[in-house]
Amino acid sequence: MRLNLILPKVEPGHFEYPKKCGRKGCQGVRFVPRQEVDKKIVDAEHPQVTAWRYECKSCGYVFRVYPKGVNHKQISKRVNGMAVMMYLLGLSYGAVELVLSSLGMGIGKTSVYRAVQEVAKRVPGMKQEKLLDGYRTKAVGADVTSVRCNGQWVTVGIAVDAINGMVLSIDELPGEDAEQLKAWLEPILNAVDAEVLVSDDADAFKKVSDETGRSHQVCKSHVGRNTDALVEELSAIIGTGQDRSLEAIPVTPEQALADLACLKEMIHSRHPEDQPRLEGIYLRYANARKPGRGKKHDVAYRIRNLFMDRWNLWPRLVFYRTWKEENDDEILDGTNNHCERAIGWWIKERYRSMRGYKQEHSALGISRLIAFAGNNLSRGLRLADLLA
Ligand SMILES: [Zn+2]
Repeated sequence: MRLNLILPKVEPGHFEYPKKCGRKGCQGVRFVPRQEVDKKIVDAEHPQVTAWRYECKSCGYVFRVYPKGVNHKQISKRVNGMAVMMYLLGLSYGAVELVLSSLGMGIGKTSVYRAVQEVAKRVPGMKQEKLLDGYRTKAVGADVTSVRCNGQWVTVGIAVDAINGMVLSIDELPGEDAEQLKAWLEPILNAVDAEVLVSDDADAFKKVSDETGRSHQVCKSHVGRNTDALVEELSAIIGTGQDRSLEAIPVTPEQALADLACLKEMIHSRHPEDQPRLEGIYLRYANARKPGRGKKHDVAYRIRNLFMDRWNLWPRLVFYRTWKEENDDEILDGTNNHCERAIGWWIKERYRSMRGYKQEHSALGISRLIAFAGNNLSRGLRLADLLA
């Protein structure tokens, strides 16, 4: 896992003048330091720091001000940060307790859990109903995966900036049919003002792009792999000479093999102008009849469907080529790799070392936290910003 986490520090000499009174509701802004007092803490470096007792000039309330990296709790922010870091790197809550305690930093498993949940809760954006404020991109990549929570499979949708790979949102979905995907994705596409949706070749995503009026790029790697497998399988069946369905159209086995080879070549060169060629080949098989109910689909009918599908798919497959001409500095590579990588790195890698999450909010919270750290890989994620 690639993470760049910056741990909070404890600086015993660094105090900030209080911003507001410790008493709820008091508007006082002037405070007098009254007394310096000792405070024992759990930390890697400082077993003890001092706190200052301040008195509010407005209401007389006396409250404590702590040095940087320490609050009213016993465990320093650095130790909390270390706990979060170790958990994200793959240790269980209990294992974090063991490691830190063996190093002299007594922190219970429940405190580890609380620190992790607290940090996860403070991750900004990353959810459909609350994306990063003002973030804009022309292209959104989307994909769906699932994780086990408390014995149940939970469907998780992930949306990324398809140009730079930034994760925009990780959400639980009720399912992955077209309506459910649209209900999830449309607000995201609108919020970032996207023109293009990038996805795998699932039909549901095609409907989402059509119904939301977005251009669509279908992942060229997915389509390439699927096509290669089908071409190979169909060619092998033709080679055995046992399927006679081509005779009825009629098309010779040699012609069919040549057509399949041609498709394979076109699917990898992806010239936008090849669409009429696909149509032309499709027409050769257009009359292939659908086998009766319960009967296996024969070669002629399967080739017919394959060419019809690729002919219709073509504009979605080669979209990135024409888009490139108009958007020089923003690159779509024609794949949904940013999304797949995000699933692998930010959702699946940490998840693999556990027997599933116990709760859905944990599954989402931890995935969002790791993805947020991923978004901040280049400058590092300051855990201090996410710890109270
Ligand atoms: Zn006050």
